[in-house]
Amino acid sequence: MSVTQIKNYIGGELHEPGSGDYLDNVNPAIGQVYSQVPNSHIDDIDAAVDAAEAAFSKWARKSQAERSTILRRVADLVDRDRDRLVTAESDDNGKPLRLARAVDIPRVAANIRFYAGIAEGFSSESYAMPRGINYVLRQPLGVVGIISPWNLPLYLLSWKIAPALAMGNCVIAKPSEITPMTAYLFSELCIEAGMPPGVLNIVHGSGATTGDAMLTHPGIKAISFTGGTQTGEHIARTVAPQFKKFSLELGGKNPIVIFEDCEYEKMMETTLQSSFANQGQICLCGSRVLVERSMYERFVDDFVERSRKMRVGDPHEQSSDLGAVVSQPHQQKILGCIETAKQEGGQLHCGGGPAEPGGRCADGFFVQPTVFTGLATDSQTNQQEIFGPVVTIQPFDDEKHAAELANSTKYGLAASVWTSDIGRGHRMAEWIDSGVVWVNCWMIRDLRTPFGGMKASGLGREGGMESLRFFTEPKNVCVKY
Ligand code: NAD
Repeated sequence: MSVTQIKNYIGGELHEPGSGDYLDNVNPAIGQVYSQVPNSHIDDIDAAVDAAEAAFSKWARKSQAERSTILRRVADLVDRDRDRLVTAESDDNGKPLRLARAVDIPRVAANIRFYAGIAEGFSSESYAMPRGINYVLRQPLGVVGIISPWNLPLYLLSWKIAPALAMGNCVIAKPSEITPMTAYLFSELCIEAGMPPGVLNIVHGSGATTGDAMLTHPGIKAISFTGGTQTGEHIARTVAPQFKKFSLELGGKNPIVIFEDCEYEKMMETTLQSSFANQGQICLCGSRVLVERSMYERFVDDFVERSRKMRVGDPHEQSSDLGAVVSQPHQQKILGCIETAKQEGGQLHCGGGPAEPGGRCADGFFVQPTVFTGLATDSQTNQQEIFGPVVTIQPFDDEKHAAELANSTKYGLAASVWTSDIGRGHRMAEWIDSGVVWVNCWMIRDLRTPFGGMKASGLGREGGMESLRFFTEPKNVCVKY
């Protein structure tokens, strides 16, 4: 198998890392190294920041329409190369091809077009006063840093890159070293689209080497981060004393709250999705299913029966509901969490081990959809993010009890509530501490809405105008006449 050597995108060109240091990149469905990714050092970050600083004033002074036109050209090329990007995302991450085709890659183009559009309509406040006016100038921050995770690789990277560029910033972006391929292909598309050199720089490498060099670089004025809570803590500790602006989108342990009066079939179908989509590796997946006691047994029986039927297989096959998890270390982490759940007295209903699809995927990293009941609220299994296809089911007695259980972890990212009682839906939404509450649905994303987490799930909001505000500095100008 030929091994692709990924390059950094710096100053409008593709470069090898200065140190010549590379990391292996593994296709998790087949368990083989298929590309190499630069492990960039501080000199590569220095070069990227120099290029970005040189490009900044010209890019920031372009009209909004000019910047948005360039972004739309990139989005058109993403559409043109959709099939290639879909295959690359699936091979890099292990996710089913059909998921990358339906969700990941269309969302990349949609993110870019969306921000190109709303930036054109962006306005800031002004306040008239007797013989005077205050108006708020929203100016770009300068060179900003973007660090993203492996679960929705190009989707999340583009979600941050697009608003930053649209508002006139220049960007240093570091994709996850575990899934770098589509970001590399994206840099080729940016060159083809005529993105001015230095405006966007994509520098690859590990968190400890490349990521840390970004956090401490004095030329990088802000960090927008999506990833794990522990990494988020480190980022906050490092960048806060430098007074850099930062936004953190972190982990979750999301509750799905199901009342007996819900529309049962729709709830069941969606709860299977919220549990196992992308192998449970979406920050918004529901990993704690809370069920009203009066329907608890019926739910457990039906849910387990349907979970057992989910097909774990080759991500390239249309019939696979779940593909591979992202890496062998991650597979081992998930299997370790399953062992912990057993030791904590959890009753295992299905799954509980690696899946072995065989054939081309004989050496890949797969995990069976796994369901536990009988675990205490304060058990490690019900408290810690697993980020795999593992869910627990717990019964509750009434609305207050459901809210108490929903709020019983340090996280607060997302929740779903299933009920036919409109008042109850609103009440639960008010009581649950999380950045988003879906009532009778899951993962419906309107790009205009604020997105982010409470408590250990993050700091700040992205999405819609929130992203445009994050990537600008408000300056009040008071004019007296
Ligand atoms: P991670 O925190 O390990 O890595 C995320 C990114 O941070 C990677 O690019 C990594 O290289 C980088 N990084 C790691 N250490 C760093 C350091 N010391 N300095 C700078 N950068 C560093 O997370 P992951 O394993 O890639 O992703 C999974 C996590 O992301 C889960 O916890 C999941 O819930 C979370 N996530 C959250 C959201 C959200 O919107 N809230 C979305 C997707 C994923």
